[in-house]
Amino acid sequence: MKAILLSIGDELALGQTVDTNSAWIAARLASLGVSTVLHETVSDDQPLIAAAIRWASTRADLVIVSGGLGPTQDDLTRQALADAMEVDLVTDEAALRTLEAFFASRGYEMAQRNRVQATHPVGAAMIPNPHGTAPGIAASLHDARIFVVPGVPREMRAMVEDAVLPALAPALRTTAPGVILTTKINTFGLGESDVAQRLDDLMRRDQNPTVGTTVAQGMCSVRLRAEFPDPEDARARLEATAAAVEKRLHPLAFGRDDELLPAALLELLKREKQTLATAESCTGGLIGAMLTDIPGSSAAYLGGWVTYTNALKTQQLGVSAAAIDAHGAVSEPVARAMAQGARERSGADLALAVTGIAGPDGGTPEKPVGTVWLALASSTQTLARCARFTGDRASIRDRATKCALQMARLSLMNETLDHLRWLSLAPAKPATA
Ligand code: AMP
Ligand code: MG
Repeated sequence: MKAILLSIGDELALGQTVDTNSAWIAARLASLGVSTVLHETVSDDQPLIAAAIRWASTRADLVIVSGGLGPTQDDLTRQALADAMEVDLVTDEAALRTLEAFFASRGYEMAQRNRVQATHPVGAAMIPNPHGTAPGIAASLHDARIFVVPGVPREMRAMVEDAVLPALAPALRTTAPGVILTTKINTFGLGESDVAQRLDDLMRRDQNPTVGTTVAQGMCSVRLRAEFPDPEDARARLEATAAAVEKRLHPLAFGRDDELLPAALLELLKREKQTLATAESCTGGLIGAMLTDIPGSSAAYLGGWVTYTNALKTQQLGVSAAAIDAHGAVSEPVARAMAQGARERSGADLALAVTGIAGPDGGTPEKPVGTVWLALASSTQTLARCARFTGDRASIRDRATKCALQMARLSLMNETLDHLRWLSLAPAKPATA
């Protein structure tokens, strides 16, 4: 079964909103063995939407259209579908009553405009929407089945899961069986070319599962896709390749699919029954923010300090003013003292400290923008490393944050910090002009 996905809306065509619906639907269909061959984004233009639906229905078995089912003048998908089918819209009395009840239950009177949402092209059927006002529509045109679902991502997902996929199930059983399973392995601390080098033989184009890489926000992820007639085969082969990838990228691979680096660190802390505190300067609380984004983080993360000025580093963490004077705030002794101070004053088992120059100002030839000292204090030792990050202020702060998290993770795993390619024991020699 081949699918074409249409997303409807001026905001999508203009680039104000990114089309996340198609990505989600395509992934969901892929897991059932349906290949999506085309994504198309169409503005709120009735003739254009009608033409796109007509064209798609001659080239795919399945067309899923999202967006443009609302009550306003720019919501034209319903009318466009009727045009493509060359029929009129009719009111569905049951849908109208449901719509009126929806408003009544909230104490509103239904606006006249909403009535159009209870209509569908003659010969099509309504799909109820328990999460909003816009019912979906199921229709057929040429040899294609057409489903129109709301644009609001939450409503779209619910309708695809609850109505569209179940409606497709019988057809999927009779067409050639097969499943596509995917997974993603996330790493931090390796460049894309390092990853590609380590996975060279697994990344050959003729392999099944296929293996590819993507980089986002300093993290390199390895995407795996297995396509087999038998779901058990697909699962087993995907898992075998995923395990091989993880082994080659150990210990920098920290999780699969949506697992984030702070979540991986928190898991490890909990497993090792260790607690963590932070002392942040240039990252301004980003480490704490990333950790506390994860629900349940208080089981392992105690809290921390944002000590941006020298005075606060001394007052709050006990960093000696003499050390700051002698070495500067961005230095190994200060990073170490911040970590030790945070550990002692919080009572945590481990403390991470970060002090660096995020720019755009403040760099010197010896300590250019992007120079960051990171330290990790434990009961037995304090590890300190220097990193030189490139990029703008936001990316320097982001990489420093993730580097600190990965550093703590490696240390808990008893792995050397040398795996993290940015870190060295001393700052890199300044370039001589
Ligand atoms: P609509 O169904 O056109 O009324 O869409 C309602 C809202 O859902 C829009 O304003 C968008 O913010 C969002 N939306 C619609 N289509 C998409 C899409 N393909 N991807 C992500 N968001 C969408
Ligand atoms: Mg719209």
